[in-house]
Amino acid sequence: MLKNTEIASFIDEEAIEAILAHEARKDAERVRDVLAKARQLDGLDTDEVAALTTVSDPELLGEMFETARYVKDQIYGRRVVLFAPLYISNLCSNECLYCAFRKTNKDVKRRALSQQEVAHETRILIDQGHKRVLLVAGESYPVEGFDYVLQSVATIYDTQNANGEIRRVNVNVAPLSTEEFRQLKAANIGTYQLFQETYHRETYAEVHVGGMKRDYNWRITAMDRAMQAGIDDVGIGILFGLFDYRFEILALMQHIRHLEKRFGIGPHTISVPRLEPALNANIAAHPPHPVSDVDFRKIVAILRLAVPYTGIIMSTRETPNIRRETFALGVSQISAGSRTNPGGYAEEEAYDCSQFSLGDHRPLDEVIRDVASLGYIPSFCTACYRLGRTGADFMDLAKPGKIKDHCDVNALSTFVEYLCDYASPETRSAGEQCVANALEGMTPERRNTAQALIGQVKAGRRDCYV
Ligand code: SAM
Ligand code: SF4
Repeated sequence: MLKNTEIASFIDEEAIEAILAHEARKDAERVRDVLAKARQLDGLDTDEVAALTTVSDPELLGEMFETARYVKDQIYGRRVVLFAPLYISNLCSNECLYCAFRKTNKDVKRRALSQQEVAHETRILIDQGHKRVLLVAGESYPVEGFDYVLQSVATIYDTQNANGEIRRVNVNVAPLSTEEFRQLKAANIGTYQLFQETYHRETYAEVHVGGMKRDYNWRITAMDRAMQAGIDDVGIGILFGLFDYRFEILALMQHIRHLEKRFGIGPHTISVPRLEPALNANIAAHPPHPVSDVDFRKIVAILRLAVPYTGIIMSTRETPNIRRETFALGVSQISAGSRTNPGGYAEEEAYDCSQFSLGDHRPLDEVIRDVASLGYIPSFCTACYRLGRTGADFMDLAKPGKIKDHCDVNALSTFVEYLCDYASPETRSAGEQCVANALEGMTPERRNTAQALIGQVKAGRRDCYV
């Protein structure tokens, strides 16, 4: 059996520095060659990604954004999938200097939800119209231990309200053992998500100063254990602001290539959180390597070009404007109406109980209206996961472009479900216009399938998909 240190050696810092130095002053011709390759929708190699990170010239940057828009449109069309985080607990035994939940932060109000409270939060999210939840917790559980997470997943799935339920529970909790991952898989989770925060070992040691999370190798090998345990949808991410984003993107590429090589499949999603202010966390308010809004858009565009079939998730850490701009550049999933304090949906947003502060405070209905008015189709689809189209099976459909046959129509049927059951009158009218436009732009065959599904939803059936 491979040791964690052996597995973790795929992050090769010297190689990254060498590639960055080599690609440091690449001319426009090299960048344009890389963009031309990206248009073929086959992704990019690490040195090509490095060349893109060097671009600052506005004209070239414009060409890069234009290429990212093309790739996004070819693969994802105009769909944007929605979800909400559900924080079950802010107990934590770690000392991440950027996070309000860290163990020694005495000013944060600690709270682990009871199963009744988890069910209550779930009902509120269902009543808003959500179908996907991301369960989140700090790294310390009440007396039940890891069972607390499993019980909470079961509670969310078991909770029904009026005409809705949560159909996919994704999970973002601390790294687990292979056996615990097996239990998580048996609990029918969707994606297991975990961010490395920073791939740079020295920075990692500086900002994680206590608890299990100090162990870089244990964290970076988590996806290997998850995949060994049969979880084939995993989500990775970087906490931008801790270290040089150019290094981080290349290390992320090494992580992806490692998973592809070892398991035949890369991550299902990539998250791009930027540091946000958090209670008593100086480093969060003053990031050592701040990422400007222009660079942030560049990061999204580069990831879209580098791994075109991997979803990109944009959370409510970002402002409505940044979120809107990045839909076009490559974002495929967004959270909406989020709270980062356990119990935050039943109660109000409370900074002294929250993990960090948010940039987008709009409720789901307003976000949906905005997304639809911009010509994007809000999607609550969970079909792939429930039909077992995950991991390699999903990619086999996605790469030849076949997944669109399913996604486009399922997006519309779940959106119409939302419009019938939960939307305000203004959102319903913006949404109906959006649905009509989307149907008009479809091939006759796809339009027929979509209209059949929409007809079923309007006739009162729910959860209709192909
Ligand atoms: N406690 C587990 C862990 O750290 O992996 C589970 C999830 S943690 C509650 C969720 C994520 O929030 C972390 O991985 C980190 O990237 C992010 N986070 C923490 N503090 C943040 C801050 N101040 N601004 C933005 N994101 C932050
Ligand atoms: Fe705990 Fe996660 Fe916050 Fe670190 S980021 S202090 S592990 S909740």
